[in-house]
Amino acid sequence: MSKITPETRARMKSRTLLVNAGRRPDEQFGFVNTPIYRGSTVLSPTVKDLYDNKARFTYGTKGTPTTEALETAWSEICGAQGTVLAPTGLAAIALALSTATKAGDHLLVTDSAYFPTRKFCDRYLKRMGVETTYYDPRVGADIASLIRPNTSAILTEAPGSQSFEVQDVPAISSVARARDICVIIDNTWATPLFFPPHERGADLAIEAGTKYLSGHSDLMLGLVSANKAWWPRLRETFDLFAMCAGPEDVFLALRGLRTMELRLREAQQQGLAMAHWLAARPEVQTVLHPALPSHPDHQIWKRDFSGSSGLFSIVLQPFSDRAVAAMLDGLELFGMGYSWGGFESLVIPFDCASYRTATTWAPGGPSLRFQIGLEDVEDLQNDLDAGFRRLRETT
Ligand SMILES: *Cc1c(COP(=O)(O)O)cnc(C)c1O
Repeated sequence: MSKITPETRARMKSRTLLVNAGRRPDEQFGFVNTPIYRGSTVLSPTVKDLYDNKARFTYGTKGTPTTEALETAWSEICGAQGTVLAPTGLAAIALALSTATKAGDHLLVTDSAYFPTRKFCDRYLKRMGVETTYYDPRVGADIASLIRPNTSAILTEAPGSQSFEVQDVPAISSVARARDICVIIDNTWATPLFFPPHERGADLAIEAGTKYLSGHSDLMLGLVSANKAWWPRLRETFDLFAMCAGPEDVFLALRGLRTMELRLREAQQQGLAMAHWLAARPEVQTVLHPALPSHPDHQIWKRDFSGSSGLFSIVLQPFSDRAVAAMLDGLELFGMGYSWGGFESLVIPFDCASYRTATTWAPGGPSLRFQIGLEDVEDLQNDLDAGFRRLRETT
């Protein structure tokens, strides 16, 4: 087997890239995978080398062959200039926002953002002198009317991970580009396999590796990738915080990476099968799944995304809280818990009404978010069918 030439690499489709990216068997005695390097100290052979600080690895916080393998692979898959690895998805969000804002700046954040992102803006960034304005996720090019002279960044999330509005990222990005404003996307739902973030106009792209990259609900990881313009600033911020991911988690993420496309395609099929089945249920008012033609942002999704993952929401008819609890408490296959992207199905009730500020969340019934795992769809439907019976029969 000879080394892959840059020409071959440039032509590779995503599946081939997932298998090959970031692997250097020639540096690992021929072993296929890069092992877990643990380490703080890296020894320098001479005083000159120590002062020059130019060695490929210089200290544990700056990277190891294990972290380098995942960073390299992720950059190739995202079409990014570079990637940093943080201990959690939320830490990745904190790094991206800290890279793009400073005291006195104004930040625009989608009203559909992951709730802990809001908390970081409202509590931490506010304290650091950054003012946040929340905007309607469906704002599109009208984002221009919200931009102030000191607006330094716009955070997008497409789709919102509970409410599933799909943002027009290219439209927002073209407004921002003209004004030198940093566009950040939380791309966790689609992953770069279904939404190439930098090609669509993001300067910084966040992925909670805890979700589909892991695929097994057994690790915590965050990734931030940057385009050419933002890479030096991202890398500098990362070095200042030294907020690096743990070696075990990075190793497990590399293992997950190789099968991510397979798992994601299966999650897509399973998710769609369940979404269509739910859409036909009399207990369900609306299915919030961007790949369904009934979704208000379906056209944007179709234009910008090449697939959908296994996470979506539904709005039930107006049943009581007790009835919803009876439905969920009795489920046998669906676990109730946060996070998603693993092999197992999950469901949680949610209500965004209390924290939305730019838009109103009043869907007209209780809302549930589903993560569809790899179980047989018929078994999942039977579990929910019994749940719907409890829902109807509880007053
Ligand atoms: C889970 C999640 C995160 C945060 O990831 P953690 O690793 O749990 O901190 C960020 N964004 C979205 C959309 C998420 O679903």
